[in-house]
Amino acid sequence: MDRYCVFGNPIAHSKSPEIHAAFAAQTGQQLSYEKRLAPLDGFAQAVQDFIAEGGKGANVTLPFKLEAHALADALTVRAQAAGAVNTLLFGADGIVGDNTDGAGLVADITRNAGVPLAGKRVLLLGAGGAARGAVLPILEHRPSAMVIANRTVANAEALVQQFSALAGTGVLSASAFEALQGSFDIVINATSASLNAALPPIPATVFHQGTLALDMMYGKEPTVFMQFAAEHGATVRDGLGMLVEQAAEAFQGWRGVRPETSALLVQMRSKL
Ligand code: NDP
Repeated sequence: MDRYCVFGNPIAHSKSPEIHAAFAAQTGQQLSYEKRLAPLDGFAQAVQDFIAEGGKGANVTLPFKLEAHALADALTVRAQAAGAVNTLLFGADGIVGDNTDGAGLVADITRNAGVPLAGKRVLLLGAGGAARGAVLPILEHRPSAMVIANRTVANAEALVQQFSALAGTGVLSASAFEALQGSFDIVINATSASLNAALPPIPATVFHQGTLALDMMYGKEPTVFMQFAAEHGATVRDGLGMLVEQAAEAFQGWRGVRPETSALLVQMRSKL
């Protein structure tokens, strides 16, 4: 049976084994998928051990996404752009690093929420690992404008510099939270502020009636960002769909078949 796993530290909370077991059952694929706690100073060795045991691929979560990027022998275009890796494929040519987080976010917005990105004004809050992975997949859908706002504005500016040639003239810009002007069709919170029940200091005017506001974090209750957005007319969504879709994207890369996600998403939501 082909073996896969997710590496992280901590890892006990990971929902990936449950998600991939459901995908395997649904698509009739014979595989096993486990959680592996990698030591903080022993990620590369943990990966090599898993390969030696016959592992075919792995997911990578905090805090190892940058190390996974450095470890890979080859990178997909989106992993190069993200500068981080959340999916590894082990093959005859070595370790291939991929990043499915951004594609998962875009799939959740366009397929699950049914909101196209093309021609839309998009606001991305944050410039950390998750935000960086989202920029290329969003730009590929040709929004009319994309503003990246971050607490440390220089980090947002660095992202704009990295992607501006691809975005086209005038499409991509950076901002401080407080300086944001105008409203947006889609607002994505890729900051980790929600983890501490904090809200980036954005003006309420970024939302208009029907704006899609998505927080990458997920939980039983709406985050403070989702509550704030809803109070100002937005339709809100958390990061559970993104989580399931990034897994579907990884599963497709490993197994060549894309699982259906909607029933699993409903099931996982009911268990939060
Ligand atoms: P990083 O640590 O790489 O980046 C954190 C970002 O949040 C930075 O831009 C940082 O700004 C900003 N930030 C941190 N604290 C605050 C605050 N109090 N106010 C405003 N901005 C703040 O984290 P990740 O990018 O890896 O993760 C971001 C979020 O996305 C997390 O909530 C994570 O759980 C979620 N996530 C969800 C996934 C899913 O599948 N649903 C997948 C991946 C991530 P600065 O540059 O100034 O430090």
